[in-house]
Amino acid sequence: MHELSLCQDVIEQLTALAEQHGAAAVGKVTVRVGALSGVEPVLLDFAFLSARTATVADQADFQTEWVPPRVRCRACGTEAEVVPNDLRCPACLSHETDLTRGDELMLASVELLVPDHGPPAAATDHLHVKRGH
Ligand SMILES: [Zn+2]
Repeated sequence: MHELSLCQDVIEQLTALAEQHGAAAVGKVTVRVGALSGVEPVLLDFAFLSARTATVADQADFQTEWVPPRVRCRACGTEAEVVPNDLRCPACLSHETDLTRGDELMLASVELLVPDHGPPAAATDHLHVKRGH
C-alpha cells in the first residue's frame, strides 16, 4: 500500500525530529498532500493510525492539508492554480506547463511535546515545540 510507506516515512521524520529536540512525544502533525499525489485521504488516515503504533506519534493528532495543483507555463510564464484534470495554462491554454505544486506529500507542521527542563528546542516555521508535562 502506497499510503502506508508514505506514512512510515513521515513517522521516521517525526522520530528524528523528536530525538533532535528532546521531545517525549508528538502532539500534532499536519501533512501537506498534493491533489495529484495519488494518495487517498481515507487510506492515508488509516495508514497513519497503523504506522504510528508504538512510536513517538502514538497519541498525535493527525491532520491533512490538501494542496491544489499549480503550474508554471513554459510558453508565457504564467504561474497559476489549476484543477487536477486540466493542467493547461489558464492564460494561453498551452499544454507546455510544469507542475510546481500538487504532487507532494510532506510534513507541513509538527507540534512536539518536550518535557520541562529538556534541552532547548530550536523552533522553525514548520515546527512548534510545546513545553510542559
Ligand atoms: Zn501560458
